[in-house]
Amino acid sequence: METSTGAVPRRWSPTRRRRELATALVLLLVLAQGASTGIAAAPKLASPVPRSAPGSSPVSAAAASASPSASPVPSGTPAPSASVGPSAVPSPLPWPSASVAPSPTPTPRPQPLPRCTYADVITRDRDPDDWAITFLDTVYRLPTMYGPRDLVRTGVAGGGSVRRLVAGDLRAMARAATAAGAPIQIVSAYRSYAAQISDFAYWVRVSGLAAALLGSARPGHSEHQLGTTIDVTSLGGGLPWHMWDWGTTPAGRWMRQNSWRYGFVMSYPAKGSPAKTCYRYEPWHFRYVGREMAAAVRASGLTLREYLWRERSR
Ligand SMILES: [Zn+2]
Repeated sequence: METSTGAVPRRWSPTRRRRELATALVLLLVLAQGASTGIAAAPKLASPVPRSAPGSSPVSAAAASASPSASPVPSGTPAPSASVGPSAVPSPLPWPSASVAPSPTPTPRPQPLPRCTYADVITRDRDPDDWAITFLDTVYRLPTMYGPRDLVRTGVAGGGSVRRLVAGDLRAMARAATAAGAPIQIVSAYRSYAAQISDFAYWVRVSGLAAALLGSARPGHSEHQLGTTIDVTSLGGGLPWHMWDWGTTPAGRWMRQNSWRYGFVMSYPAKGSPAKTCYRYEPWHFRYVGREMAAAVRASGLTLREYLWRERSR
């Protein structure tokens, strides 16, 4: 754009100069209006509309908006002309399509396994019907009032209660263990939120907070509150956590090798505990997930926590 400074053409008449000044003034007004309404004066300054698909992660949304070239979506409104100068003519066309890069299709990425920190996030799949897939660890927990309404006596040595849907396979497993010469008994089955308060407090008193956190779930975080989880020991034997490794006893070995056939998964196996499971190795602790899922977990080679997290991230 010509400016009013510098040499003025000698042959300019006052009329022509006034016309030039008027044109410059109009241009300045147009530019000022464009700036005040958020319309940029040049295409390269235009802010693309970030694509925000439902469910897209905040990270990808932020990345898209941070990079103007990532996914500009042309708006339907024709933009003001890009050219600047006295000969500017409003363009009837929208933004030139040639300069618009195709929007990358967001691909869902499985979320990495959360770190084993301590928090109290109410878990997503918390309906009692979600018993097999309810994700629990040191971060995710059940609501305080969560309690199954279909508890029945286990019918197995040691007693306790489990949900009705567990009882049949539990009894079958106990019979099979006995038949194999490795009989088991229940040490603990369903525990309410209130019971877990006492249980965790006991372990804090006995072993200190750090050890308790590794070996006992804080209230709301225990799989025992689901009504599908049992701690077992050898029939007539002592408490398994008082032994060096109950998993090496006949009953412990039989359970490790066969519990999955009856729908039970060792939640905290030696391999992966506590790094992946957030708790120390507990060869006596088994959660019922049904025969089909137990077989799938075993085939996956993952701990139950890794498996459930992978499935919910899909
Ligand atoms: Zn347990």
